[in-house]
Amino acid sequence: MTRITRYFVVAAMLITAGAVLASPAQAEAKALVPKSVATANPLYKTKFGTVNCGAGSPRAGSRASYRAYLIKVNTCLATAWRKSFAQAGKKFRAPKMVVVNTRGNTSCGKFPARFVGYYCYNSETLYIYLWSTPVKNGYGLWGAELLAHEYGHHIQGLAGIRAYSLQVPGNETSRRLELQAQCFSGAFLRSVSGSVPGIAQNMDYEFDWYRQNGGDKAGAPPDHGNGPNNAYWLKRGWSTASPGACNTWSAPRSRVA
Ligand SMILES: [Zn+2]
Repeated sequence: MTRITRYFVVAAMLITAGAVLASPAQAEAKALVPKSVATANPLYKTKFGTVNCGAGSPRAGSRASYRAYLIKVNTCLATAWRKSFAQAGKKFRAPKMVVVNTRGNTSCGKFPARFVGYYCYNSETLYIYLWSTPVKNGYGLWGAELLAHEYGHHIQGLAGIRAYSLQVPGNETSRRLELQAQCFSGAFLRSVSGSVPGIAQNMDYEFDWYRQNGGDKAGAPPDHGNGPNNAYWLKRGWSTASPGACNTWSAPRSRVA
């Protein structure tokens, strides 16, 4: 691509990015990530298919067992995404995972009190807060779904989607990221649902829960999407076992409200 063409690309991007970038010179210095990285990422052409995952089930009441379960699910996430990245001809690397009993400090500062999962981009580390209720009940799907969602943020980092999103700050961008992570989670869960007990029979409960309770709360920033859209994207991923179902970046505004 010649320099002239490149200038036009940058100029076109400035309109989309609004006030974020002050001048073409500054834009060039920051090496703009084109919108197509989010809207037409090669990962959307990939499929997990069936992933054999021997995670088993956590034993009710045992934190150690729940932790061991999450470590296994984390390995299965790497298997699924490695497959997807290979299909897309992209290089994959797994994130680190830290499971905590209390929300203390992370490599990105304090674990936010309103979240149970957290991903730190700088250190590529997933933080999972082991909430007592699913541990008590031995309800593995809670943790698998949460972990797969946070893993989705790691994928967005590797795929350049996050880098694009930083150029378009705001709650709508945040919702497109979050709902995509929901969808990635659903797609992964479907791929392992034949080999991990406790997933397939509980997904309807999860969809209902998100529809009714999973939306942005009054008083908090509208950065994760409403309940019906959280249920919609989780289910969309689930129905295909494919990251291709998860293009929130081309979805109409009403689907990312
Ligand atoms: Zn998230």
